[in-house]
Amino acid sequence: MSGLDPRAPLVLDTRELGRRAGSQREVELTVPAPADLGIDVLRVAEGTPVELDLRLEAVLEGVLVTGTARAALVGECVRCLREIDDDVEVELQELYVYDDIRDREPAEEDDEVSLLEDDLLDLEPLLRDAVVLALPFQPLCEDDCPGLCTECGARLADDPDHGHEDPIDPRWAGLTALTQTGLTQDPDNDERGA
Ligand SMILES: [Zn+2]
Ligand SMILES: [Zn+2]
Repeated sequence: MSGLDPRAPLVLDTRELGRRAGSQREVELTVPAPADLGIDVLRVAEGTPVELDLRLEAVLEGVLVTGTARAALVGECVRCLREIDDDVEVELQELYVYDDIRDREPAEEDDEVSLLEDDLLDLEPLLRDAVVLALPFQPLCEDDCPGLCTECGARLADDPDHGHEDPIDPRWAGLTALTQTGLTQDPDNDERGA
């Protein structure tokens, strides 16, 4: 049933830790980010270093993993489309249950339990969940990003006093020019007030 590849960057081998409850190991490692880590508008680019600072602790039922993961983020502001250059740090905590113990105790209601497989544990689902939860659904370049000018698309953060003296819907620009021409020639012919 083991589908874990011991050479995969996010698969840890816990054999060295042993099964004596209370035994611990600190694990610091940097791994390349897996694909699709994050959400569309904000994510850890595939292959970007993810710094893991973990503690593995043997407990009665399995191995408790706690620690942090840090990585750089790329994305774009949902208001002004400017590139976002940020990073994310998440807390990780998960109990990986020994698969042989699990076999003896039939599954209860939660199938969400993480299992050790042949003393291997897979950090990827844990990392993925933690990162996705930590990201804002609507990332902004700054909390108060004013977005883009609805008239011309200029980025308002770059030009706070930006404005248009006489906003004109381009669809009516030609018509207005005609009317104004009429005005200078014959004021009585002005029908715009209707
Ligand atoms: Zn923005
Ligand atoms: Zn504008």
